[in-house]
Amino acid sequence: MTTALTARQLTRRFGNRVAVDNVSIDLRAGEIFALLGPNGAGKTTTLRMLAGLIAPTSGTVQIDDEAMTPDAAPRLRARLGFLTEAPGLWDNLTVRENLTVYARLYGLSDPGRAVDEALALFRISDRSEDRAARLSKGLKQRVALARAIVHRPRVVMLDEPTSGLDPASARDVRELIVAMRSEGRAILLCTHNLDEVDRVADRVAVLKSRLVANGTPESLRQQLFAPRLRIRLTDSAERFVEVLRAGGVRDLSVNGHWLSIDSSPIATAQIVRTLVEAGAGVEAVETEEPSLEDVYIKLVAEGGSA
Ligand code: ATP
Repeated sequence: MTTALTARQLTRRFGNRVAVDNVSIDLRAGEIFALLGPNGAGKTTTLRMLAGLIAPTSGTVQIDDEAMTPDAAPRLRARLGFLTEAPGLWDNLTVRENLTVYARLYGLSDPGRAVDEALALFRISDRSEDRAARLSKGLKQRVALARAIVHRPRVVMLDEPTSGLDPASARDVRELIVAMRSEGRAILLCTHNLDEVDRVADRVAVLKSRLVANGTPESLRQQLFAPRLRIRLTDSAERFVEVLRAGGVRDLSVNGHWLSIDSSPIATAQIVRTLVEAGAGVEAVETEEPSLEDVYIKLVAEGGSA
């Protein structure tokens, strides 16, 4: 997988305040990278540095193999699409005109075709002659997304793209983000919606001025939480607690017919055998996954102050 954007040791100060502290990130083609963090953690500041809109106090950004210097930034920005938190459309222009302005701004050789393609990808061709003011919030967001990629950028940065949308519109937008990944773009997604991250992100980083975690959702779960088993018995689980403890299980809890067990020290098969030999009827054995919200809350709580 090729790396489309590389950021190394980015730091940004505003006066005495360190908004972003020593952050390194790689964005790879064909991947959705989610950047999470509490309000004020420095996400927007990071995005703006990656997009070459503000200079870091120190550190470097590179797109493909080119450094984002003040001289190169205007040219390199053509390889980036950026959906800001409140992307304004021109209300009095049609959908097509809104996109065409950007296509021309980027100096595309055939702006009409680029606009048609973006309209088709985002399934808004039938609304192309509507004025932006007439669109619902969900449709406006689709137009804003189409506008962010009209110049076919390698890297797409999305700042809270589904915030304020109803569930159906949010799902539409998520599908479009996944479609952009299928086209091989590198996508940086900032969101507070952890369910969304769980559904679409390949990798996740948690920012709290500095990066407090960086990995796949699965690896973060494993790093932070011991694997647990949930076992449902035909009868009350209470009477099997002793035999499990004697078999080496240390951390277990009981809830009616259910057992919840830290399975890291002992193989699942061994636990089930112990139960069956003690006369238990085993109805179901499941692995217990902490939600990404559990992971996030733990990371932010342990990650020091922002
Ligand atoms: P949110 O989730 O609320 O959008 P965020 O993670 O995007 O927050 P930033 O907007 O990057 O956070 O802000 C990080 C810190 O930097 C905050 O303390 C903010 O007040 C400060 N900050 C951001 N921009 C500026 C600026 N232009 N001048 C001074 N301070 C700033």
